[in-house]
Amino acid sequence: METFDVIVIGGGIAGASSAAALAESRRVLLLERESQPGYHTTGRSAALLTPFYGNATVRALNLAGGRWYRDPPQGFADVPLLGPRGELYVGRAEDRELIEEEADGARHAGAKVELLDGAGARALVPSLRPEWVAHAWYDSSAMDMEVGAILQGFLRRLRHGGGIVRTDAEVLALGRGGEGWIVSAHSGEASAPVVVNASGAWADMVAGIAGLGPLGIEPKRRTAIIVDPPPGQDSRRWPGVLDSREAWYIKPEAGKLMCSPADETPSEPCDAQPEELDIAICVDRVQQAVDIEIRRIEHSWAGLRCFAPDRTPVAGFDPRAEGFFWLAGQGGYGIMTAPALAAIAAHLITGAALPAWMGEHDLDALAPARLLAAATPPA
Ligand SMILES: Cc1cc2nc3c(=O)[nH]c(=O)nc-3n(C[C@H](O)[C@H](O)[C@H](O)COP(=O)(O)OP(=O)(O)OC[C@H]3O[C@@H](n4cnc5c(N)ncnc54)[C@H](O)[C@@H]3O)c2cc1C
Repeated sequence: METFDVIVIGGGIAGASSAAALAESRRVLLLERESQPGYHTTGRSAALLTPFYGNATVRALNLAGGRWYRDPPQGFADVPLLGPRGELYVGRAEDRELIEEEADGARHAGAKVELLDGAGARALVPSLRPEWVAHAWYDSSAMDMEVGAILQGFLRRLRHGGGIVRTDAEVLALGRGGEGWIVSAHSGEASAPVVVNASGAWADMVAGIAGLGPLGIEPKRRTAIIVDPPPGQDSRRWPGVLDSREAWYIKPEAGKLMCSPADETPSEPCDAQPEELDIAICVDRVQQAVDIEIRRIEHSWAGLRCFAPDRTPVAGFDPRAEGFFWLAGQGGYGIMTAPALAAIAAHLITGAALPAWMGEHDLDALAPARLLAAATPPA
């Protein structure tokens, strides 16, 4: 049987980034069930770095991730990982207080916030309907992310560090044996003192095959469609636009518009597909707020955003089982938080110091232990 220092389960952004960070000082095996890494949620994101989206713990991770992506290690990728975008958070006349509160919260967290009225919002995105958008705040620090290049960069870094990536390698059994864990996968058996559970929507199931009760990581389906922008409008420079009540958002995407109803429908872990009803809701909500007639859906998809009950990611050892490390529940923030969560995983697993670009983080707020009291006991 092959032996490693760490076996990472899951080849999405969480698994790839943490495996790459660990491979700097450890022998790492990454196991991915599908025939290509990034097939599930990682390949289905909106690719936005919105530093002031999410709770305070998440924002600190977003900001650190942004610092890393702006200045990645030399040779990480041959394209810039970030591109200018900006994010406009909009609301109706009755949403004034909500918009001001959100803007204040972002300002306190360090954002250079611009409060705008409807006309100010329309100066950035002329197609916003005056009867719908009355108040807004603008965050110029939001960026587009090159998710494909980022994922490939992490995988390349892992291999350069001597790490091994195995695809078509579903983990079927996990048991204690010898000096740690014996992992049985489609690709064969391997052992290591530490396993990292970075299996996205399957995180509670993977814990289950290790004999551990779930933490309550809930997959929630989110739908996206690609449509033509309003005729005569050059939408390429528009910022992303997010409804402050998070009922819809739009984002320029290669000359087209990506639109989402910002749905969060609880789902089993699966290869998520868009439902007709969610697409219809998306078209309706976007047409109400934006002067656009959506006649044709060029492309649609869905992905599972996975949340712990407190909507904060989980990064840390499970106190119930030695060497079982959780890296799960990244919600709608998994791409932008990946460098920071990977550095935290490497810090907790190897004892490596947290690098200076990380800044301050509350590691207790990320620890699995915070969820155990509320979690359901094993069946
Ligand atoms: C519509 C949408 C928009 C989003 N927009 C953004 C955004 O703008 N910015 C942002 O930062 N985030 C965004 N996200 C969230 C982000 O995509 C996720 O947080 C992130 O991709 C989660 O990565 P992951 O590695 O945890 O999960 P995944 O990418 O799902 O990877 C988990 C992997 O584990 C594998 N696996 C599962 N079980 C096993 C097993 N038993 N054995 C081996 N392998 C296994 C799976 O096959 C899968 O490949 C968005 C998500 C969606 C759906």
